[in-house]
Amino acid sequence: MHLYIHVPFCSRRCSYCDFAIAVRRTVPSSAYLSAVLREWALWQREPVWDESPAVETIYFGGGTPSRLDPHAIAALIEAISRVRKVLPGAEITLEANPEDVTLAAAQAWKSAGVNRLSLGVQSLDPRVLAWMHRTHTDAQVPLAVERIRQVGIHNLSLDLIFGIPAELSRDWPMDLKRVLEFGPEHLSLYGLTIEPHTPLGRWTERGQSRPVDDERYAAEFLEAHAALISSGFEHYEVSNAAKPGFRARHNGAYWRRAPFIGLGPSAHSGFGRERRWNVRHWANYERLLGEGGNPVESRELLDNSETVLEELYLGLRTLEGAKRDLLPLEESAAWERAGWAAVSRDRILLTPEGWLRLDGLVRSATLVGT
Ligand code: SF4
Repeated sequence: MHLYIHVPFCSRRCSYCDFAIAVRRTVPSSAYLSAVLREWALWQREPVWDESPAVETIYFGGGTPSRLDPHAIAALIEAISRVRKVLPGAEITLEANPEDVTLAAAQAWKSAGVNRLSLGVQSLDPRVLAWMHRTHTDAQVPLAVERIRQVGIHNLSLDLIFGIPAELSRDWPMDLKRVLEFGPEHLSLYGLTIEPHTPLGRWTERGQSRPVDDERYAAEFLEAHAALISSGFEHYEVSNAAKPGFRARHNGAYWRRAPFIGLGPSAHSGFGRERRWNVRHWANYERLLGEGGNPVESRELLDNSETVLEELYLGLRTLEGAKRDLLPLEESAAWERAGWAAVSRDRILLTPEGWLRLDGLVRSATLVGT
């Protein structure tokens, strides 16, 4: 079993972000803890544990989990371990923003059992950070990395965003180079998407910002791919690269379609064909659990074609690819001729050029057996 715990609190909304967050100057850590513990208790009655009784990974995502009182992180890990077996060597990840990584906080996370940190760097260019409405400075990144290393956390992932509007003249190779100099074990690369109802969405609508063109977006992605390979990383999933032995085990569970439980507002859960998700807003989530209710907003059972589509999409995201027999032979052969895929006897693997077209390829795919 894999556990995801969504911590929705942020000190400010980033200009591009449409996640389910709650902007709070002061984080209500104890109210959050008691709500999530109630939800955790509800999950103990679910038959999903029969087939997957032990916890392999725990992932605190957000929002900004590093803003939560570290005692609440410790209490959650402790509460999970009290009723379920957490496997020895389980991966326990916490997402952190650089400004929250004090030495005391890093020590507290480590003592709580966190053994992997995912740091939201996004860029090291002060102008870009200001444009993104990030709440950290470029100078806080090396300090955070140093403190994480100092407390003995040896599995560090850094997040970077590419595909930023050309008007910012961001020096992408320089950002990549500087981030790699920190010596992370893992790097996540996200292409900027423009969502309506975000500051960036509004700037774009008013013509104050122009989306990056496809050529520049592709060039930055391919540049990152080349830089990562030459620095000894495996680009093992469309948005993720790792040094050997440091692939993200929690995210790997999603791509393998292993069972996972999501706790917290807007968290999703998936096991077998069932998918369910919680109410999006923190206030609703807290109220429902406070009234003794259930925070699930909705659930669905995937039918055969949705299952195949999910398997194809998630498989193609990874270096292991998808089963070849999910697609007609002539279709995968056409992808191969175009340079978008490599097709072996039983797998279809997308190339970096193919990853750039992932959504379009899956959308137009003719699925076999549905
Ligand atoms: S810190 Fe992360 S979750 Fe919070 S607003 Fe920024 S991008 Fe969104």
